Amino acid sequence: MDGTFNENDLSRVVEADRAHIWHHLIQHKPFETNDPRIIVEGKGMRVWDQKGKEHLDAVSGGVWTVNVGYGRESICKAVYDQLMKLCYFANSAGSIPGAIFAEQLIDKMPGMSRVYYTNSGSEANEKAFKMVRQIAHKKYGGKKTKILYRDRDYHGSTLATMSAGGQDERTAQYGPFAPDFVRVPHCMEYRKHELDGAPEENFGEWAADQIEQVILREGPDTVGALCLEPVTAGGGVIEAPEGYWQRVQEICKKYDVLLHIDEVVCGVGRTGTWFGYQQYGIKPDFVTMAKGVASGYAAIACMVTTEEVFDMFKDDASDPMSYFRDISTFGGCTAGPAAAIENMRIIEDENLLGNCAAMGDRMMGNLQALMEKHKVIGDVRGKGLFLGAELVADRTSKEPVDEKLAQAVVADCMNQGVIIGVTNRSIPSRNNTLCFSPALIATADDIDQITDAVDGALGRVFG
Ligand code: PMP
Repeated sequence: MDGTFNENDLSRVVEADRAHIWHHLIQHKPFETNDPRIIVEGKGMRVWDQKGKEHLDAVSGGVWTVNVGYGRESICKAVYDQLMKLCYFANSAGSIPGAIFAEQLIDKMPGMSRVYYTNSGSEANEKAFKMVRQIAHKKYGGKKTKILYRDRDYHGSTLATMSAGGQDERTAQYGPFAPDFVRVPHCMEYRKHELDGAPEENFGEWAADQIEQVILREGPDTVGALCLEPVTAGGGVIEAPEGYWQRVQEICKKYDVLLHIDEVVCGVGRTGTWFGYQQYGIKPDFVTMAKGVASGYAAIACMVTTEEVFDMFKDDASDPMSYFRDISTFGGCTAGPAAAIENMRIIEDENLLGNCAAMGDRMMGNLQALMEKHKVIGDVRGKGLFLGAELVADRTSKEPVDEKLAQAVVADCMNQGVIIGVTNRSIPSRNNTLCFSPALIATADDIDQITDAVDGALGRVFG
């Protein structure tokens, strides 16, 4: 291309995108004949593409991120004002928004105490992993380096977080991985038939007991931490069954295993409480969060831990290796906490946690009604405004539908002006779970528009 680039000339933008952008998570072959989609603008729950078409966004920016909706002037203003005052300084010094947001965040997390800023969920998780490794060296003579993760969970795209990756679709082809990451079985009631020996009753406790079995097999003196999503996101929107979390907590305590809860998706309101783990009465040692922290208005992620963990790293002049020898350059960018403060104020002032819980109930009711009507829906599940509907070829065998059919439902919804997602990621190319995570500002009409679109799409794709 030549000449000056006019951002209003959207055909030029499409051309530049096709020529130079490597999009995330998708196959590019179709762009040889189809235009890539450019999202040009957003307001509230809706976005507009390069053709001017309006879409109701039922996935908060595609990946559960824009929790307070698009076009929030007050967040943009807070970021602008902060950047004019001080854009950046490395976080070995403090900043005003950094300190204020940390205090406000900790206020929502009884039992937690320290915030380590970084800029992506993967990185936040790696910080916790590194702390676990350092604790192993400081406190356990180099033992307790193992980190347990669960089948179907996801913790990031870097090599260490993929080493803790329970979704085979994402990890196949990227090995070899880092040592001392050990997988525990999933806790998905709907697919418990896949697990040898899973009982009909008390599956939650049994699934947690499988973690204990892994700890015993590996040796309790080698296991430092257990990392879990409160509600598994990309692995199929999976809430753990009754009895699971209580046993998990007991097991961690019994074997001196630190509990790391990955709230990158669930954190900051998505499930109807500030954090997903708060619905299950557990006390984590590490909590990581990213997407909803500033709803995508700035890149910010946090690794939050207890004073007890922090104390283990307190500077000791006689030991040069006593502190956490780590930095995240953009953990010092002040736009993140400035946006996060305003994001949190909006959630409080507009009672978005209450709205999330109420709209989540409405959406769950609508999806259950769709399940009565469409045999292809084998299960609906989730928490708050974070829901999934699993599509199966047969309700008895629970065989996933062909992914192309699930994608056809997504495409049909897109034609109707509603953006939904599809996931599973545990079996390569068998993504069969429709997923929904509208912004926490969704109204009853928005929710009904989403489920009406799904109803129509299922009718057309599956007859
Ligand atoms: N943990 C979970 C549960 C996630 O869903 C994701 C991202 N989808 C991550 C971690 C990684 O976050 P990021 O893409 O910001 O690195």
